[in-house]
Amino acid sequence: EKKVLSASVKDLTPSYDWFQTESLITVVIYTKQKDMNAELVIVDCQDKRLRGEVVVGDQSYLVNVDLDNAVQEDMAVNITEKVGKVEIILKKKDNVHWEKLGQPLESHNTFIKRTDRGLFYRKCKLVSKTEVTHDTKLFCLTLPKSTHLRVPAGQHVYLKQIIAGTEVVKPYTPVLPFLPLDFKEPSHHDGGHIYLMIKIYSHGLFTQALDHLQIGDYISVSSPEGNFKKSQVQSLEDLFLLAAGTGFTPMVKLLDFALAQVSSLRRVKLIFFNKTEDDILWRDQLEQLALKDERFEVQFVLSQPTKDWVGKEGKISSSLLSEFVKRSRKDSKVLICICGPTPFTEQGVQYLKDLGYSQEEIHAFTA
Ligand code: FAD
Ligand code: NAD
Repeated sequence: EKKVLSASVKDLTPSYDWFQTESLITVVIYTKQKDMNAELVIVDCQDKRLRGEVVVGDQSYLVNVDLDNAVQEDMAVNITEKVGKVEIILKKKDNVHWEKLGQPLESHNTFIKRTDRGLFYRKCKLVSKTEVTHDTKLFCLTLPKSTHLRVPAGQHVYLKQIIAGTEVVKPYTPVLPFLPLDFKEPSHHDGGHIYLMIKIYSHGLFTQALDHLQIGDYISVSSPEGNFKKSQVQSLEDLFLLAAGTGFTPMVKLLDFALAQVSSLRRVKLIFFNKTEDDILWRDQLEQLALKDERFEVQFVLSQPTKDWVGKEGKISSSLLSEFVKRSRKDSKVLICICGPTPFTEQGVQYLKDLGYSQEEIHAFTA
């Protein structure tokens, strides 16, 4: 009699294997997921240490080994999305036969809650620093050749610096190098760079140190984190973005993603709160986009305008939101994203709830 193995309890824990040729080492992770993509895979290979992390739902699978032999700096990561296979291809430094992949390091071959994994940092080089406004700069960092990392829309990273002998960590939200004006295809920004739009505060601990970095200097950048899910945007009809100051940063990739990939979307409205006209980030680009794409509209609201400002004035309020945040049709599927100083975000969420929007229709970006 044949023994029938119970197929009902499928083991969904990822696993890995490895192979070698004369010159290559291939590490394969079988995620057992049908919808893998480049944003769910984070690989670093430094000083013979290989760390490959795969995000599966709210879990994280890790391969973490001290390699048997040295490898070259460049690395390739291939993802077969439909079968959920991730291949990490390393080049041997010397064409010798490896007895084993290497020695397991901390948490190797574990599958645990993502939030329990702990952040991993790699050093990135500052390659450019450009002015956005009088106090805000766009920092461009390059990832090491042996790192594969993409920051998904709505997520942030942590930067780490030693300031006066103490390790200091602050979160920042990667943006794009500029706002694309044409969303016919998903925008191809190369994976090797991270762009950060950062306001330098005159007495800011972290931002002052950042501003003093020279081109060519290195800074530690963590893996991405954040609870925004792209599925919140899928099948949307109306998207409202309420941003104050640098609270604009999460809206950049979100805008790009929504306009490029959400076909159901009818309208995207950004309501951008700033103190003065000089503080408005990427004003020209936003106005250009509004001219180019009829789905997109931008409204600037200033809290400390000069006399000649003819636009909207004030801070976030119930009356302002009831005027600007309206469904394009009764019962349309809507999402309202909000980001800025904590009091701004908290007040905004309360006003929106008072106006009858549900919890699911509001996403607040917070720490
Ligand atoms: P601190 O030393 O903390 O502050 C010193 C002084 O600076 C304060 O006394 C005050 O005068 C001034 N100051 C600092 N923060 C504020 C404030 N919020 N409002 C008014 N005055 C202030 N910032 C960006 O520029 N770009 C981003 O993309 C970005 N993303 C973020 C993502 C997340 C999830 C979070 C929680 C924050 C984000 N921030 C971002 C803010 C960032 O993390 C720091 O808080 C900010 O850079 C200030 O750091 P600091 O050490 O220079 O200032
Ligand atoms: P800012 O001081 O220049 O203010 C911009 C606008 O925010 C003001 O014009 C006003 O309309 C509004 N505002 C400020 N304080 C307010 C208050 N107490 N009540 C109601 N409205 C208020 O802003 P900034 O210096 O650019 O600060 C941006 C903030 O956004 C920072 O606190 C930063 O930490 C936060 N941020 C958060 C995230 C995130 O994901 N959580 C991302 C980026 C930025």
